Amino acid sequence: MGAHDFDLFVIGGGSGGVRAARIAANHGAKVALAEEYRMGGTCVIRGCVPKKLLVYASRFADEFEEAAGFGWTAGKPTFDWSTLIANKDREIARLEGLYTANLERSKVTIFKARATLTGPHTVRLSDRNREISAARILIATGGMANLDTKLPGIEQAIISNEALHLPRLPQRIVVCGGGYIAVEFAGIFHGLGVETTLLYRGEKILRGFDEDMRDGLTEAYTRRGIKIITGTGLSKIETHASGLTLSLKTGGTLETDQVMFAIGRSPNTAGLGLEMAGVKLGSKGEIAVDEFSQTNIAHIHAVGDVTDRVNLTPIAIREGHAFADTVFGGRPTKVDHALIPTAVFATPEIGTVGLSEADARARGHTLDLYKSNFRPMKATLSGATDRTIMKLIVDAASQKVLGVHILGPDAGEIVQMAAIALRLGATKADFDATVALHPSAAEELVTMREKWVPSKA
Ligand code: FAD
Ligand code: NDP
Repeated sequence: MGAHDFDLFVIGGGSGGVRAARIAANHGAKVALAEEYRMGGTCVIRGCVPKKLLVYASRFADEFEEAAGFGWTAGKPTFDWSTLIANKDREIARLEGLYTANLERSKVTIFKARATLTGPHTVRLSDRNREISAARILIATGGMANLDTKLPGIEQAIISNEALHLPRLPQRIVVCGGGYIAVEFAGIFHGLGVETTLLYRGEKILRGFDEDMRDGLTEAYTRRGIKIITGTGLSKIETHASGLTLSLKTGGTLETDQVMFAIGRSPNTAGLGLEMAGVKLGSKGEIAVDEFSQTNIAHIHAVGDVTDRVNLTPIAIREGHAFADTVFGGRPTKVDHALIPTAVFATPEIGTVGLSEADARARGHTLDLYKSNFRPMKATLSGATDRTIMKLIVDAASQKVLGVHILGPDAGEIVQMAAIALRLGATKADFDATVALHPSAAEELVTMREKWVPSKA
């Protein structure tokens, strides 16, 4: 450590920063961590966790409706938003406490303040007038929601942060965007009884996902009553006594009570003092790092969303862990960013791992495709209209399974397991040789025998 106050100073107490701090401390380093808001970061405080709790809440509407087909009679269900939010907040506070306790147990010094770089080895905290020095610095400041700041009336719009804390549930909402957050929150609001419109600038939501998943979810959302408007955006937001009027770029207006923006997130680097330390940014404003998360300054590293590699919690955690093992554990470790399973927690849900059909073709693979589109068993009595879609992308030459895509209940849970098979390089024959678990939806993955051929019609 020499002349420095700490061996490591971590800026940001989110998924990546907390993991890095704990592991580095466990390797024997003297570690400090600064968090300006709440310990746990985006995922715990205003991302994955509260979002998933709201997703659960939104799915009860289906359960109540479907119960009748199984012989249940219950009174007319009612929903209380403030109870949900209060219970959710209690759980988030519990998790926040656990994160703090775990850091304390690892003897990490916590500063509840904003930290900015003042030089290559120094940071200043917002709540004191002294610089702190560290041999190494890890930047793990995450990302920030983008907003269309030039749009007249944009100050009326909320982002996901506020959506998790609305004082009351609106009757109508328009969600702008077509990615993870917009699609997930549209599903949440619709499930909770809000008249929901999804407004997306492109032709089809969820760009980058397999086309069958995009089409399947678009159909399911539309059938469920979510209005999807594509190919346009907003030109103006106006407030009036009974709500908001949104003007569309293509003409026409939408009347609503709330408008939410979910149009992507950007690395959180503003005002961080990176220039004081000479840290370079990449073309999208992300902190540029090598495969060991090292910046252009040898003793300054960065992990997680601020590096804009793959912006998911398990990746931030892995990058934080790998950094600590590399720098303080004597075990140089890279994070493999291939074959990352991911889910869109829409209702129905999408789970996906590996290549989409389009990506596989773009990489030059000749493909065997296997597709299944069926009514889930539960729907036979419940009367639910959603269909489950499963798709395997197989390299024709090697028979290696390149991608697994599922739309339907528990898709994320199923895909987590399929990801192990893909990592092990499973072939279609390995899937076929695996005995089915019956009756389940997942068994379809190991019983699809007929190659899919496009119909000539
Ligand atoms: P963060 O978790 O964002 O942590 C950064 C921390 O740094 C924050 O706590 C911030 O307050 C703090 N900070 C910033 N600047 C400073 C400073 N100068 N000084 C002190 N502290 C500072 N990912 C999934 O894998 N699954 C999901 O289901 C999922 N759902 C999501 C839902 C939403 C609504 C959002 C917004 C994100 C979701 N994500 C999900 C993405 C996931 O939350 C992020 O990828 C993950 O949190 C990134 O971790 P991180 O450590 O890089 O940054
Ligand atoms: P995404 O990148 O997923 O989607 C952004 C959406 O906004 C796209 O549909 C994009 O359209 C659109 N968009 C971008 N710029 C504009 C603009 N100027 N005007 C109108 N529309 C625009 O970002 P999200 O904000 O949904 O989520 C951020 C990240 O958080 C995700 O990428 C993901 O990494 C993570 N996340 C993960 C979740 C999970 O794992 N379940 C859940 C939530 C978030 P286009 O496609 O045309 O570019």
